[in-house]
Amino acid sequence: MANCPFCGESANFHAAATDIEYFTTPERFEFWHCKACDILFISPMLADRLDVIYPSNYYAFQEVGRKSFPLRVKEWIDRRTLRRVLRGIQGSTLRVLDVGGGTGWLAGIARAADLRVTETWIVDLDDKAKSSAEAHGHCFFHGRIEDFDDHGKFDLILMLNLVEHLPRPDLILARAAQMLSPNGRIVIKTPNFRSLDALVFRHRSWGGYHCPRHFVLFSRESLTRTLRDAGLAVDGFSYTQGAPFWCVSIMNQMRLAGWISISAARSYADHPLLPFLQIAAAGFDFARRPFSRLSQMVVIARRDDSAADGDRRHTTV
Ligand SMILES: [Zn+2]
Repeated sequence: MANCPFCGESANFHAAATDIEYFTTPERFEFWHCKACDILFISPMLADRLDVIYPSNYYAFQEVGRKSFPLRVKEWIDRRTLRRVLRGIQGSTLRVLDVGGGTGWLAGIARAADLRVTETWIVDLDDKAKSSAEAHGHCFFHGRIEDFDDHGKFDLILMLNLVEHLPRPDLILARAAQMLSPNGRIVIKTPNFRSLDALVFRHRSWGGYHCPRHFVLFSRESLTRTLRDAGLAVDGFSYTQGAPFWCVSIMNQMRLAGWISISAARSYADHPLLPFLQIAAAGFDFARRPFSRLSQMVVIARRDDSAADGDRRHTTV
């Protein structure tokens, strides 16, 4: 039995999974589905063992050296998206906050995408990222977003592949809504557990579980509802390719079959098969994108000052 972290109701068993990516623990974890909230959540949730489940070779901690072709394509897409979002925000100068932004590569893209961006902030738990972020001209707060106070309003808040790592993403989104300027936008990217790969690999440690690092997973409906409850209104929604989830899921099956060797010492990222699989998976997802729910969602949201609880919340702002 497990109770939903959002509503407290008892949830239904969905699947079991282990850490098939970094092998940080041999433990078996369970994912549970709350019917009322339509979210998946992990049990147990190792919020007090982050130092164990995020090893030093965790991909987000790595400095990007020579950029691979898929990464360059991804950066091009990010730059195009950010330019479009920034164009829709009024103001002669803009402040950008990237939550979980590491060394600031995305904040750097935002700054390059619009000359009005004069200030970029990174909030991250990784203190090793601080010197690099500051060397690139970003302000850096080492700690949790919950403790990031009194830094004024932001015109653009980025939360890419972040909320699913938190025990209570609903509370963080409400906090982000308070930090947003009246015309500001927030960009959220998070997995969608109602996708083809999530279905195929449901009982095979689907890559999107990113077990045990993803605590809460959404569907389009539950993400939209959670944003609304946080005082945010959806401005734009799109599905995007989930190549990383396909790759990890498929390569894990190959590992179990004894075809390839993946271990704590030799990660997926180091395997020569990965770039080819990435291109194939991304191509497959892009081809079916017009008529399928892909395993990553990108939402652009703004403050919803018309909502009743939103009004109450923002009277103190
Ligand atoms: Zn619930």
